[in-house]
Amino acid sequence: MNSFTYKDIYIENGKKVLEMNVLPEKFCNFDCVFCPIGKSKNKVDSQRSFGEVENALVDLKERIERERPNLVFINSKGEAFINDRIGQIVDFIKVQGPSVRLLSNGYLLGREEYAEIAHRCDEVIGELKAIREEDFQKLQRPIDGYTLSEYISNMESFRARFKGKFIFEVTIIKGFNDDDISVEKTVDVIRRIAPSDLIVVGIDYEPFSKKLGVDPDRLKEISKRLQSAL
Ligand code: SF4
Repeated sequence: MNSFTYKDIYIENGKKVLEMNVLPEKFCNFDCVFCPIGKSKNKVDSQRSFGEVENALVDLKERIERERPNLVFINSKGEAFINDRIGQIVDFIKVQGPSVRLLSNGYLLGREEYAEIAHRCDEVIGELKAIREEDFQKLQRPIDGYTLSEYISNMESFRARFKGKFIFEVTIIKGFNDDDISVEKTVDVIRRIAPSDLIVVGIDYEPFSKKLGVDPDRLKEISKRLQSAL
C-alpha cells in the first residue's frame, strides 16, 4: 500500500484530529445492508498484506510533523485489523507523539491477536447496531458462524481489561431496535460493557435514512435512556 488516505484535519473537543484510512478498498467481516461504503466483496476476518507501507509511513510522519494533531483516528474502509501492518502503524503513530483512536466494529476484539493491538491504542471504538440475533444476521450479514451474543461478549471481555478509553457507538434503526423492549435490552448491554463514553446515532445518510432513520425526537429520547445506563 503506497499511501493511506486522509480527511482534512479537524478540531474535536479542542483537540486536533487527523483521520486516516489504512485499507485500499473495503475489507470487512460484516456486510451491513446500510453500509455507507457499499457492499463487502471482501468479507474476511484474517489479516492480509497490502504491500510495503514504508512510503506511506514516511508520508504519515510528514503529516504529523506538519499538522501536529493531538489524536490520530484510524477510521478505515471496513475493519482496520485486516491490514497486517495495523500494529506497526499504531506503534509508529505513538512514537511520533499523538494519541491513537481505533475504530472497529468490535467483533474481532474477542481474538487475542487483535485485542493485543487494540490494547496499544489510547481509545477504541466498538459498535452495536442490532439487539436481536435475527436482526444481527439480517442487517449486518456477518461471516458464517458469527453470533450476536459472541459479538457482545467479545467487546465485554476486551473492555474489562482495556486501560484506555472505550467508546461504544450504538446505532438506532427504525423498526429494528427503536422500540421500548429493544431499548431496555440495549441498556443491559451498555451496563455489561460499561464503556467510558457512549455515542447514540441514527441512520442519517442516503439512501437509507428514509427507511431506517428514526425520528429525531424519538432518537433524543432513546439516547437519554441509554446514556442513563452509564
Ligand atoms: S461494520 Fe461498518 S464497514 Fe463493516 S459492513 Fe458494517 S457498516 Fe460497513
